[in-house]
Amino acid sequence: MTSKRWGNVELTVPAWINIWAEDIQTIFPEVNQRMALTIELARVNLKYGGGPFGAAVFNRQSGELIAPGVNWVVPGKSSLLHAEVMALALAEQVLGNYNLASQGEFELVTSVEPCCQCLGVLLWSGVSSLVCGAHSVDAEAIGFDEGPRGSNWEQVLIQKGICVTREVMRPQAVEVLQSYTGEIYNANYRSYNMEPRSCK
Ligand SMILES: [Zn+2]
Repeated sequence: MTSKRWGNVELTVPAWINIWAEDIQTIFPEVNQRMALTIELARVNLKYGGGPFGAAVFNRQSGELIAPGVNWVVPGKSSLLHAEVMALALAEQVLGNYNLASQGEFELVTSVEPCCQCLGVLLWSGVSSLVCGAHSVDAEAIGFDEGPRGSNWEQVLIQKGICVTREVMRPQAVEVLQSYTGEIYNANYRSYNMEPRSCK
């Protein structure tokens, strides 16, 4: 017998996104337009207390915006709430399938290269293309950690049939990273690395 109960896990989408989305276009034919949108998401997100990361899923052919995402880890109190995870989870909900590949060809555009969590999520999401802005070293330069992600991650994606384009509008994405003054939330993970402790 237990008195504990658990409800559903809800991934919070910041309220500001739907207000902001009322004034944006819905078709983004060029890759730079798609990247500019994700960088703008990251930039606006800072004003609301989120992290300096933005992402979005687009229909690869038409350029239609399917779903946006921002880093909402700290306000949303969840380590899941990376921009890529939010965009992919929303896209799967919009398209009504956990496997985006069954619905067409979709592109994940992210203002910074994916961390180990997002790499896993994007692999299982069925996207056929990944476009990145800032390099991982740019995120690491301000204290964030990409986690235990193999140095061959790009090749792994390509072998799985996912096209990878890196360093699109990197300076603009880096500018948002460098303007961030909030919490660097993977501190425990990093200090764990610095001070190994026994698991016994
Ligand atoms: Zn991530």
